Amino acid sequence: MARNYGSVERTERLAPNLVRVVMGGDGLERFTPTEFTDQYVNALFIPDGAPYSVPFDVEAARALGFAQSPKGRRLTVRSWDAAARRLTLDVVTHGEAGYAGAWAGRARPGDLLQMLGPSGDYRPDPDADWHLWAGDESALAAIAASLEAVPAGKSGVALIVVDGEDHEIPLASPGDVEVRWLHRDSVETPASLLPDAIAGLDWPAGRADVFVHGEAGEVRAVRRHLLAERAVDPNRVSISPYWRRHHTDEKWREIKKEWLAEQAQDVAPDQAAGRP
Ligand SMILES: Cc1cc2nc3c(=O)[nH]c(=O)nc-3n(C[C@H](O)[C@H](O)[C@H](O)COP(=O)(O)OP(=O)(O)OC[C@H]3O[C@@H](n4cnc5c(N)ncnc54)[C@H](O)[C@@H]3O)c2cc1C
Repeated sequence: MARNYGSVERTERLAPNLVRVVMGGDGLERFTPTEFTDQYVNALFIPDGAPYSVPFDVEAARALGFAQSPKGRRLTVRSWDAAARRLTLDVVTHGEAGYAGAWAGRARPGDLLQMLGPSGDYRPDPDADWHLWAGDESALAAIAASLEAVPAGKSGVALIVVDGEDHEIPLASPGDVEVRWLHRDSVETPASLLPDAIAGLDWPAGRADVFVHGEAGEVRAVRRHLLAERAVDPNRVSISPYWRRHHTDEKWREIKKEWLAEQAQDVAPDQAAGRP
């Protein structure tokens, strides 16, 4: 298996809890991007005391058992510059808990990060009549990359939950995109900002291309609203939870399958708006 790893060239604090990490180096020689604007890598973080360092054999490291095996965290490719062989990730920092956020907060030039991927499955649909993106900071890289891929003449609305005005970052699009920032009280507390904002939207005519990602409970509330009230087709939208409040990624992945199965029952097909 090819070992992809980046060497940190620089970091930049885009917002109080968002760090841009720009990586380069020969370890990215075989990095193969996809066509998707939500493409992500599975970044592999090495627990303290584990007896290996980047670059490492992933299977051998995993065989060491849970405590020492690399901790995978999905992070979106904000951009990939093939000519310069430069990979940019925008990572949410949220204290010292966990791996990805804490690593990004401390990252210094020369630090190495190994990763698997990328893979992805969304890119703005050029045949849609308009676009809707909704999410929080964890989805900002994907939303930002998607906005840049919207052609001129297409319109859309991006709804993004952050902690406050100083957490808003510049976003650009060739399309006619309205960006609305929603300010929560605290990331620790579940909020209904996204479903409320979507419920209040003046819903344009035609088929919406929908991308909703972020905290699991909030994404689920949005999904329920879109299916029940807006008659969006669950098979033609990109809606999924990126993280779960008060759960590490390991804990979240343990229950995610069951959680998604429950979510699938939220809106029965015959309850969906606009269907007989
Ligand atoms: C396909 C995909 C793409 C993603 N892209 C990105 C990305 O580009 N940038 C990014 O930052 N995240 C992204 N995420 C989310 C990221 O993988 C998770 O947030 C992950 O849990 C972070 O790992 P950690 O090691 O920092 O914290 P963990 O060890 O997983 O969790 C420690 C604690 O921090 C909390 N926590 C986790 N994430 C957040 C958060 N965003 N805000 C507040 N508290 C949090 C947890 O609930 C837990 O209590 C993506 C997820 C997926 C599935």
